[in-house]
Amino acid sequence: MTFANYINGEWVSGDTFENRNPANTDEVVGLFVKGKPSDVDAAAEAASQALAGWSKLPGPSRGAYLFKVAEILDRKFDDIAADMTREEGKTLPEAKGEVRRSINIFRYFAGEGSRLNGLLVPSERDRVHMFAIRKPIGVVGMVTPWNFPSAIPAWKLAPALICGNTVVMKPASAAPLSAWRIIEACHEAGIPRGVVNFIAGSGGSLGNALVGAKPLKAISFTGSCEIGQWLHGKASERRLRIQLEMGGKNPTIVLADCDFKSAVENTVNAAFFSTGQKCTATSRVIVEESIYDAFVAALVERTKKLKVGNGMEPGVDIGPAVDEGQLETDLRYIEIGKKENGAPLAGGNRITGGAYDKGYFVEPTIFADVAPNDTLAQEEVFGPVLAVMRAKNFEDAMAIANNIPFGLSASIQTTNVSRVFDFVYGAEAGLLTVNLPSAGVEYQLPFGGTKDSSFGPKEQGPAAFDFYSDYKTVYLKY
Ligand code: NAP
Repeated sequence: MTFANYINGEWVSGDTFENRNPANTDEVVGLFVKGKPSDVDAAAEAASQALAGWSKLPGPSRGAYLFKVAEILDRKFDDIAADMTREEGKTLPEAKGEVRRSINIFRYFAGEGSRLNGLLVPSERDRVHMFAIRKPIGVVGMVTPWNFPSAIPAWKLAPALICGNTVVMKPASAAPLSAWRIIEACHEAGIPRGVVNFIAGSGGSLGNALVGAKPLKAISFTGSCEIGQWLHGKASERRLRIQLEMGGKNPTIVLADCDFKSAVENTVNAAFFSTGQKCTATSRVIVEESIYDAFVAALVERTKKLKVGNGMEPGVDIGPAVDEGQLETDLRYIEIGKKENGAPLAGGNRITGGAYDKGYFVEPTIFADVAPNDTLAQEEVFGPVLAVMRAKNFEDAMAIANNIPFGLSASIQTTNVSRVFDFVYGAEAGLLTVNLPSAGVEYQLPFGGTKDSSFGPKEQGPAAFDFYSDYKTVYLKY
């Protein structure tokens, strides 16, 4: 099937590019229209024209549209989840979890349409009523990655729309179908023409047009540090409001007093599920010396039981890398690990033979005794490669955890409540978990990192309004 772009309420066709299933490259998931810079201009213009009408609708009416989008996604739940497994490779249960999250995100922000709280405060002056209302910022550009191909578009689009903004979205080329399904639902829900626009195509050829589109007032980006940095430079020249969610090198600290079995399980889950391709995945596990050997042995034993394969098959824990480029990155870092840290204790190879030859499968890989300045302790792999690091004690573990330029997520496994609070106040990351995997967030609280991982207001929860709306302040004498 060919999936067209969506501009001003019309499906727009053109030259296409292929999207193939990373678990079976014989299967073409779909053909997507290769957007051109002129399409981006047309989409931004359409969004600009639609802005007045959409932003004047009462918030609850915009909310009603978002509830409809959620309803439509819910109705097609099984198909949309299967599409995601086919385009991105994550297992079907993981894909279902993500589609459920997207539906919940639309419902959550639909409800916010009836609130959109401003501020009302007492004045120092007699008979002066002072308040601030929220207003939209205008046309917003969105650039999304492939790893959460539905949830990330949803968590940008839903708050943008409920605040009264109009949108031009560019999805990741490796997994555009899940975002397309959301746009299709917006169309079916009857969202007025021009409010939502969707242009697939390579970021390299569309990026300039998007960040340069005259009507644009803001841009929300999730992806690599390199592209985020470039976009930031371009957006700043025009004083666009910008939000960047980028890379990570997330630690899990395991202390001797942890619940051992769940610490192993949480680490394996955070490091390897979704093929290690979650931005909040654990890529460094920092283990207190006194349990180091026992923990590493248990980690390796558990990891060796993981089943890698086509995510559509029941019993498969881990799907393929998303594409050939990511597979090569994973294998390159594994080679670096072998040189710097010796043979891995688990994995270390591409999986081949039979059906595996048709996909981009990598063994979940563990390197032990990785030192704080080794490559695998510093650079993001974004694949199923875990560095195990030794810490003398809690303080040493914290120093190692914070010794990176990134600050997305961090986790601790301990039963000592004082250590938990020391971690909460001392960890240099925007998302913390305690006795849970480092990955696995919900939509009701702010999401985002610190240090080189992020820039600008946070996403999701009430924090989303800090990016997608502005205050208008009123002083009124009566
Ligand atoms: P990426 O290469 O930066 O791509 C992200 C998006 O940017 C894609 O839509 C891509 O389009 C687009 N893009 C590429 N070049 C562009 C340009 N010159 N101008 C504008 N857009 C451009 O990142 P990725 O490989 O998809 O995703 C992996 C990275 O995302 C990892 O570093 C991961 O940590 C990060 N990530 C972070 C979070 C978070 O919340 N912090 C969440 C998920 C992922 P094409 O696909 O067409 O190249």
